[in-house]
Amino acid sequence: SYDDLKKCTNNFSETNEIGSGGYGKVYKGILPDGKMVAIKRAQQGSMQGGLEFKTEIELLSRVHHKNVVGLVGFCFEQGEQMLVYEFMPNGTLRESLSGRSEIHLDWKRRLRVALGSARGLAYLHELANPPIIHRDVKSSNILLDENLTAKVADFGLSKLVSDSEKGHVSTQVKGTLGYLDPEYYMTQQLTEKSDVYSFGVVMLELITSRQPIEKGKYIVREVRRLMNKRDEEHYGLKEVMDPVVRTTPNLNLVGFVELAMQCVEESGAERPTMSEVVKALETILQNDG
Ligand code: ADP
Repeated sequence: SYDDLKKCTNNFSETNEIGSGGYGKVYKGILPDGKMVAIKRAQQGSMQGGLEFKTEIELLSRVHHKNVVGLVGFCFEQGEQMLVYEFMPNGTLRESLSGRSEIHLDWKRRLRVALGSARGLAYLHELANPPIIHRDVKSSNILLDENLTAKVADFGLSKLVSDSEKGHVSTQVKGTLGYLDPEYYMTQQLTEKSDVYSFGVVMLELITSRQPIEKGKYIVREVRRLMNKRDEEHYGLKEVMDPVVRTTPNLNLVGFVELAMQCVEESGAERPTMSEVVKALETILQNDG
């Protein structure tokens, strides 16, 4: 109930605040049974928040997967809108990559994060019934649990797609700049392949630790340019590689970076499906992990 949630977050005190988004704030809380939770609290009167919250509840109550962040409950009481999630003590992938958290992700861990989040997305695309397109895949929507298992989060923009709806023109293109599938942007036709594009961008972040757009430069374009230097070691990617990755003993980047570049192909039809990405990453991890 509202009163319980109020109690377990110290009356939504600032010290319990862990983040904020367009809709409002996220608080850390401890439920009476000792379970740690993250509580997303919509700003009062944010109508958009209301709609996105409903979407999120509807979707999350259908999905159960190791690599998708779990909804513990929700509360619509006294004009409040709150979603209660399992708490992810190691924050977002973006925070670790930008050095804002204590988590140190070596190359092996980065490969596991890639595989975990790919499995979460493949599940949404292929096993959830009906399928779900996430629509906002990015490193700040990938959370890390206590074992550094990656979980896909933030379903506010997601969409259930029945077969009849698939590929239909939507009226509004949504997503995050730098991750947004250019084909979806041009045609406004939403398919699972838009998530594949965004996931490819996340893979490039795992190599470089850079944001998709930094100092006006698009990481996708930079890597594409560097990959023309085929005969150089690691395709001449050394200049954009995170030192943690660059100094990995026996680093074999070829399979990973080629997979990432297939994911960010201009044409969705050329991109692999998420379950093909999962298979490819499993092979890479077997050989190099
Ligand atoms: P936005 O809508 O802006 O993407 P999110 O709902 O993803 O915001 O969450 C905002 C911030 O709250 C995140 O960046 C993250 O730091 C934190 N957060 C969200 N969910 C959790 C969770 N389950 N466990 C721990 N921290 C979380």
